[in-house]
Amino acid sequence: MGKFNIAVVSGDGIGPEVTAQAERVLEKIGSIYDHTFEFCEVIAGGAAIDAVGECLPQETLDKCLSSDSVLLGAVGGPKWDNVPGDQRPERALLGLRKAMGLFANLRPAIIHPSLKDACPLKPHIIGDGLDILIVRELTGGIYFGERGRRMGELGEEAYDVECYSETEIRRIAVTAFDAAMKRSKHVTSIDKANVMESSRFWRSIVNEVAKDYPEVKLDYMFVDNASMQLIKDPHQFDVILTTNMFGDILSDEAGMITGSIGLLPSASLGSSTLGMYEPVHGSAPDIANQGKANPIAAILTAAMMLRYSFNLSTEAEAIETAVELALDEGCRTADIATEGEAVLSTAQMCDEILARLK
Ligand code: NAD
Repeated sequence: MGKFNIAVVSGDGIGPEVTAQAERVLEKIGSIYDHTFEFCEVIAGGAAIDAVGECLPQETLDKCLSSDSVLLGAVGGPKWDNVPGDQRPERALLGLRKAMGLFANLRPAIIHPSLKDACPLKPHIIGDGLDILIVRELTGGIYFGERGRRMGELGEEAYDVECYSETEIRRIAVTAFDAAMKRSKHVTSIDKANVMESSRFWRSIVNEVAKDYPEVKLDYMFVDNASMQLIKDPHQFDVILTTNMFGDILSDEAGMITGSIGLLPSASLGSSTLGMYEPVHGSAPDIANQGKANPIAAILTAAMMLRYSFNLSTEAEAIETAVELALDEGCRTADIATEGEAVLSTAQMCDEILARLK
């Protein structure tokens, strides 16, 4: 029924191996649900440096901007470690995010019940698994604020300024509430309003946005408490809404709770439906071209694209269910296998997921 153009930046290392599996899954979704996905391969990162001497060629940018969505593998690797900072492969990500106006980073932290042993928390805390969505502001706050060094009363000092505009807070809050509407309708906004003026302003704007979502339960938490609560009782969270820096820290904490980086998807969104979808992991040069990479992060990334850019929640759930079934029925790549378990290759894991996709 739908026709969608997807720009694919497969990138470096395991990027091409895992995005190829995500494409296979989307093709099958297309055949089951009568959609057409057209993939346009574009280069960025180290592959682009090798081919044309720059990490983000204009042609790539143009094709990404004119697509319905961007699927990215990973960029970077030791081969390009010595190129100057402003030309490093990873700069392509910042260039894409900026050009596409992507201000929201969505990172689910999911513990699949069959992989509970990979979670470092005690079993009684994890229960039947976990499903949290972290919505992190991506382009404002202290990482982009005024900074510098100066002479102070006690000698030289350095400063970084946390500054958020109403527009920046409002749009990320809307993203979080919209996401909550597609989940358990609960947002926890995390800040440091007991100390910081920017946090008090953040709260007041989030409160206003909440009035447009009467079905969503909103609560607030200070970031220091939130970092403890994620370990103590992670089930109390559904959608976590937070700033750039707090989100940076909390999403890594939540990622660690889930056990394996090979399972974690992410999405970067702006105010249009055009988004960039990428697994949380990097290019994993240590296992590249060996068929060892876990394709699940990339496959779940494709599911996020269906849900958030194409509004195809049923199709997204079909992928997530197929992944869950494959894991429940013991399918394992090397990163999640325990001793004695049979190990599948990247493509074999995808075969197992495809076989369970209905
Ligand atoms: P990494 O995520 O690439 O790898 C960390 C470890 O996790 C490695 O042992 C790797 O083998 C393993 N791993 C990662 N993905 C896996 C998967 N799908 N299946 C199984 N195991 C997996 O992080 P790194 O080693 O710090 O970075 C390698 C390169 O990737 C660097 O150049 C870094 O800058 C780049 N990087 C890119 C992105 C991105 O493109 N979004 C993100 C992070 C790092």
